[in-house]
Amino acid sequence: MIHLGLIGYPLGHSLSPTIHTAALQACGLEGDYSLFPIKPDDVPGLEKLLARLRTGELRGLNATIPHKQNVIQFLDELTPRAGAIGAVNTIYFREGRLTGDNTDAPGFLADLNRFLAPNQPDIPGQKSALVLGAGGSARAVVYALINDGWNVTVAGRRIAQAEELVSQIKNARAIELNRASIQAAIFRLVVNATPVGMVPNIDRSPLPEGLLLPPDIFVYDLVYNPRETKLVRDACSRGYHAETGVGMLVEQAALAFEIWTGYHPPRDILIQSVDH
Ligand code: NAP
Repeated sequence: MIHLGLIGYPLGHSLSPTIHTAALQACGLEGDYSLFPIKPDDVPGLEKLLARLRTGELRGLNATIPHKQNVIQFLDELTPRAGAIGAVNTIYFREGRLTGDNTDAPGFLADLNRFLAPNQPDIPGQKSALVLGAGGSARAVVYALINDGWNVTVAGRRIAQAEELVSQIKNARAIELNRASIQAAIFRLVVNATPVGMVPNIDRSPLPEGLLLPPDIFVYDLVYNPRETKLVRDACSRGYHAETGVGMLVEQAALAFEIWTGYHPPRDILIQSVDH
């Protein structure tokens, strides 16, 4: 039996059990995926759960808000990408070491390239992205884009947070998230890494009203609840190609599953599992 699970708080609406249960079934493996709602300040609870990875009782854990960063102090090592991003979403015990990885970054890039790669010639200067938000998922997105050869502008409502994010990165810069700054920026891709537009505030968009955008941009919204956000709806009505982040959610889950089990779950089955 393979026991997997998710640490976070709150965890009421998580789709991870559905995706991982579909992965276990598709790969013919016996197991389960449990939710472990642990409050941010419950250090004993977190340590007790991580100890179950060391004993082998649990094969793997995902971490989500608010534990992506505060779990790091209890781990023995980070993979280079988790270290560079400064956040962990996948934990496992191997060769005597409790290790933290981050599959949000490759999960985002895999899904982005599903839409972009066939249409986007690799022309220098064309790979300019605007990332809205400067929190945990923005760090993963920026890491993924920079390593894929993009120039990145990070727009934060708190400029200090955006500046801190880009401070060690050569091809990234920070601006304030407002109409004038975004209007002056150059980009072909917009990525929303803020929670704006998420249930229950579905009538909100992270982009300021009245922006004039270039004609051929691609919009990727990490928010996937609702399946069509206001940002995506507005972008589509202006004739842009726009997608929400359900594909990233599935990819990051599938990559974590591969790390834990060595099996490669078929992505179409995982997407179907969350599509009804
Ligand atoms: P986070 O660490 O809390 O960061 C959120 C960022 O958005 C912060 O920079 C925050 O600024 C900013 N922000 C919040 N409210 C804002 C507003 N009203 N206007 C402008 N900026 C605002 O959260 P996260 O982990 O990065 O997650 C962000 C979103 O991505 C969530 O909706 C999450 O569900 C989604 N997500 C999706 C996937 C996927 O697989 N598709 C993966 C990860 C995350 P302050 O610090 O000033 O609040």
